[in-house]
Amino acid sequence: MPVLRPTPENLDRAAAALRAGGVVAIPTETVYGLAANAFDARAVARIFEIKRRPTFDPLIVHVLDEAMLARVVACVPPAARALIERFWPGPLTLVLRKQPSVPELVTSGLPTVAVRMPSHPVARSILERTGTPLAAPSANLFGRLSPTRAEHVERALGHHIDFILDGGPAEFGLESTIVTLKPAPAVLRPGSITIEEIEQVTGPLPAEQSDANHPVMPGGLPQHYAPATPIRLVRAETVPSAERERAGFIALSQRAEGYAQARQLSNRGDLREAAARLFETLHELDDLGLERIDVEPLPERGLGIAIMDRLRRASNVEF
Ligand code: AMP
Ligand code: MG
Repeated sequence: MPVLRPTPENLDRAAAALRAGGVVAIPTETVYGLAANAFDARAVARIFEIKRRPTFDPLIVHVLDEAMLARVVACVPPAARALIERFWPGPLTLVLRKQPSVPELVTSGLPTVAVRMPSHPVARSILERTGTPLAAPSANLFGRLSPTRAEHVERALGHHIDFILDGGPAEFGLESTIVTLKPAPAVLRPGSITIEEIEQVTGPLPAEQSDANHPVMPGGLPQHYAPATPIRLVRAETVPSAERERAGFIALSQRAEGYAQARQLSNRGDLREAAARLFETLHELDDLGLERIDVEPLPERGLGIAIMDRLRRASNVEF
């Protein structure tokens, strides 16, 4: 499971491993992904095994370009086309009708496939060298924190993976926004592209999110993205000082006295910076053996919607 710098030789090695049915962790602009040839059901099965991910949780397929997209999806309706023009390559995933050749395991038997075109140069270079669409969920154990650095992947899954390509810290640090088009455009998972940005292309979207317990949306399960340390969403001003001594504190830019550890996601109160630092900060505090992590709720606008979505799921887990 060597961690490789993305030199041309190493990219070739990783691409060869993928062509041979291997599993490789790759950097993307959202989080690190655990990639396998999307058309190779045995390779894809290894992703589920390594992540201990239930097979009812379909994967996102990554494509290099339009030609690769056409091998994965049966058609691109006009609304999808407009979103593609505006946001690809980038952190937008579209749910579209699949080609019959996409294995059922990738889509959990659904007639649709989730697909996106990443912008990260290493992800693109691997897609180009492999020559095949890559199925790639986040490179973490199912239900746990998403990895935004190669070290996070190495610690969680290192023993099981052929290679980890190190592309530095993820630019967005938050998963892609997932949009379905049928029967009408709707956001299935808030993410790195804000709902307002999507609406600039689609027009107003329904306010209702998809049912959080629906089995096709495990990223939408109420318990997900969790560190091992219990998380609590709480206003620090309501927390007595005795409860702060062995706990950590995370906020957008507010400070709180008396906590064993305290982190601000963005001193400037910038939600983009906060999103990019969210998982990294949770990983960091999770490693410190704290009793609990208190998180001050962030404003629910723009990227704050996706950040709060992840924090709610992280804080729902029972230990
Ligand atoms: P991950 O790759 O771990 O970020 O998660 C991918 C997310 O995309 C999961 O929550 C899936 O439920 C969702 N997804 C993948 N394929 C589909 C699909 N065909 N329809 C709806 N959601 C999907
Ligand atoms: Mg994930």
